[in-house]
Amino acid sequence: MAYPTVVLIPLCVPGHLTSMLEAGKRLLGRSRCPMSLTVLVTQMTMSANMMSDVADIIRREADSGFDIRFVHLPTVELPTAEHGGLEDFMVRFIQLHGTYVKEAVSGMSSPVAAVVMDYFCTTLFDVTRELALPVYVYLTSGASMLALLLRLPALDEEISGDFEAMEGAVDLPGMPPVPARLMPTPIMTKGPNFAWLVYHGNRFMEAAGIIVNTVAELEPSILAAIADGLCVPGRRAPTVYPIGPVVPVKPPGDGEQPPLHECVRWLDAQPPASVVLLCFGSMGGSFPSPQVREIADALEHSGHRFLWVLRGPIPADSKYPTDANLDELLPEGFLERTKDRGLVWPKWAPQKDILANPAVGGFVTHCGWNSILESLWHGVPLVPWPLYAEQHLNAFELVSVMGVAVAMQVDRKRDNFVKAAELERVIRSLIGGSSEEGRKAREKATEAKDLCRKAVADGGSSEVSLQQLAREIGEHREYQGRTEAT
Ligand code: UDP
Repeated sequence: MAYPTVVLIPLCVPGHLTSMLEAGKRLLGRSRCPMSLTVLVTQMTMSANMMSDVADIIRREADSGFDIRFVHLPTVELPTAEHGGLEDFMVRFIQLHGTYVKEAVSGMSSPVAAVVMDYFCTTLFDVTRELALPVYVYLTSGASMLALLLRLPALDEEISGDFEAMEGAVDLPGMPPVPARLMPTPIMTKGPNFAWLVYHGNRFMEAAGIIVNTVAELEPSILAAIADGLCVPGRRAPTVYPIGPVVPVKPPGDGEQPPLHECVRWLDAQPPASVVLLCFGSMGGSFPSPQVREIADALEHSGHRFLWVLRGPIPADSKYPTDANLDELLPEGFLERTKDRGLVWPKWAPQKDILANPAVGGFVTHCGWNSILESLWHGVPLVPWPLYAEQHLNAFELVSVMGVAVAMQVDRKRDNFVKAAELERVIRSLIGGSSEEGRKAREKATEAKDLCRKAVADGGSSEVSLQQLAREIGEHREYQGRTEAT
């Protein structure tokens, strides 16, 4: 008989997909009995650019030597009516796959040990329940977002209006009071996106467990508050498995190495900790021209070295930026004037390899959770420039809880606008400056690197959590095996 398989249902956008695949591979490595992974792939036809990036990720993983099978689900018609925003679109897109997921899972030749799904996919809990399969949620964000999601159904009743209009702070267990103006973008107003996140928060309570890409030592008070049942009145949340940082790491010297990317070759020629990286995730990096000018001004006047990943406009029918035409976007003469100390990269950049390079001394980031963990994994201090999703909450946590970042004034009411002088100030503070805030952020980022590395080493908190999860999934399988046999 075929090995049992763990079915993964990712959200097929690069940040979510890569993280879940890496988590799945780590799980396989901890299982006492042989197991495989089966990944259900949804066809996100709204962006050819994104589909091609996703196809690349899948190709690489299919050749990775792990026992992973990719099952491509049929294409669905994209949701259009009552379009309420990105989260609403994504959740309804996933929801349309219910029948296909059921057919794929129930028709598998391998026994299914468990289903692990991205937190955007909780509408599919109805399918796993029908098939009587244990289901785990995989959260690509941190524990702060988990605490918020679990608490959101109660918050929905507590607050009458929108966060956007609310003065003061929101009480999230285990965190200092969070200013309401820093709540995640999709829940700033009580529209369809808000309703879906309340829905997810409620459905999380049905999961066998919640796997979180975080490190227990980075968010200890939040995880303790969740475990103590402080998020959902009168109810204890499912067991949380902090298994991070789930940062894909290349095995050193394993097989033939691809040629070095141009960005990495450029970094190799720069002094240690001298370069500020600016990169804004899979959907960011595309700015209107007034903002591009402010960034260019800041970089030019700071005098520091920089690597700036600047993307082109986002087409109306997609959420994904195109490659940038630098001659059109940048101020005249900028590239020439900064050519000895700066590189502007106009497309997808190898961010993980860039952050691993010792020349990088600071990271201006949109605060996507993967980017945060990749940075901390290498001990690189940050400047938060949150743009969308839960990034404003992450930015608050980086500064006020972890202390690994230098705060920057971002005008959320003006499309997250940042002025040149402010960006220049934080770059100077972060890269080798003598300011107290820069020194503290660098020190804390070095400590965070140490915590991250210890967590995934033998006996570390994330390693122990992963083993516990693998054991539990194995036990479900044994239990099902016994019931199937009777
Ligand atoms: N990324 C990259 N190159 C880019 C932009 C992004 O490699 O030019 C990677 C980055 O390393 C991270 C992921 O894409 O692994 C982005 O995930 P994150 O959670 O930071 O943000 P999201 O894209 O989900 O908003």
